[in-house]
This record gives sequence, structure tokens and C-alpha cells, in this order.
Amino acid sequence: MGKREVNTERGTRNAEKARAVFLDRDGVVSRSLVRNGLPFAPTTLNDFEILPEASEACQRLKQAGFLLIVVTNQPEVGRGIIKQETVEAMHAKMCRELPIARVGVCYHPGHGMSHCDCRKPKTGLLVSAAQELRIDLTQSWMIGDRWRDIDCGSAAGCRTIFIERGYAEGLKRAPDFRAKDLAEAADLILAALNKMEQDAATR
Ligand SMILES: [Mg+2]
Ligand SMILES: [Zn+2]
Repeated sequence: MGKREVNTERGTRNAEKARAVFLDRDGVVSRSLVRNGLPFAPTTLNDFEILPEASEACQRLKQAGFLLIVVTNQPEVGRGIIKQETVEAMHAKMCRELPIARVGVCYHPGHGMSHCDCRKPKTGLLVSAAQELRIDLTQSWMIGDRWRDIDCGSAAGCRTIFIERGYAEGLKRAPDFRAKDLAEAADLILAALNKMEQDAATR
């Protein structure tokens, strides 16, 4: 058990470094199950639901030239609550529905039971994707709905967007932006890219 990555798209077309949008899975791309104000990952393929806004938002980001990379902690696998093959089936479904270039998963249990470099807020999943796909992390974004995502993106040098789901927990570091869902996050990223290109053109 450990870190598993699936590449469905390889490298970049030119020597220039790629830009990526790193997406947390639960609560960003797919629906989280909320109990007592806190989000939980679905435990069956049947309960795994891609959010309605995800498809168009991902298409827009991909068209703008971003590699889309899902980075997700799935500690229930390491804790023996969910089978790894169930999570892999969820990701196969996700990759059929969305233009995802790569899925990075930390299956380690955390909570003092494991010490790996891939469990967010550690940056291992972002750093290994960046090395293998030649991604410039400073030109990349991390979108998530929990403090682990924001701290991870920030530590990796990405700009961060917090999806506000109103959970009963706070943030540690402040995100660069806040959005209500992935569609609004895509708007923010595309507006920032637009502005950057305009600034470059008038320089
Ligand atoms: Mg999440
Ligand atoms: Zn891990």
C-alpha cells in the first residue's frame, strides 16, 4: 500500500514548463458526505458522485492550457475502512468523466500511524507530479475545501483557492482566494491568467 499514480496523459508539447491546477477530490470534484459538520469520503462506488459543475469547469481550465491533477488523501484505505480497489474504481469513473491528466493518492492512514511525504499538507504528490510532468509550481494552483489542501498548495509554492463548504473546522494558513465551488474557482484562475497575459502584452 502506498502512493499510487496514474498517468493518462504524458508530458508537455514544448520545452516550456507546464502549468497545472491541482484539485482536491472530495468536496471539490466529487461530493463529500457531511456528518456533524465534517466531510467524509464516500465508501462505495455508488456513493461517489462527480459534482455537476466539475465537467465544464475542468474543460475550461484544460482549454486554457492547464494540466488537471487530482491530489487526494484517502486514509480510510490505510485504516482498513475502504478497499483500495474501490477507490481505484472511483478514480477510473472520474477519469472517464473529466479531462484529468493524473491522479495522485495518499493511502497512508495518518493520525500518527504513518509518516509519509504524500499526505497533504505534505507536498509529495505535487512535487512528484511537477518533476515527472515538468510543471512550474509557481505558475500553478491548488484548489481544496480543507486546511490540509491550502497548507499543501501554499507550501508547494502554488496559489491557493479555498472552496467554502461551511464545515465545522477552520483554516490554518489564509488562502489566496475563496470560491463557492469549482466553477467559481475556474473563473478566478482564468481571470488571473487573462490579466497576466494582458500585462505581458502591454509591457
Ligand atoms: Mg476535500
Ligand atoms: Zn502518504
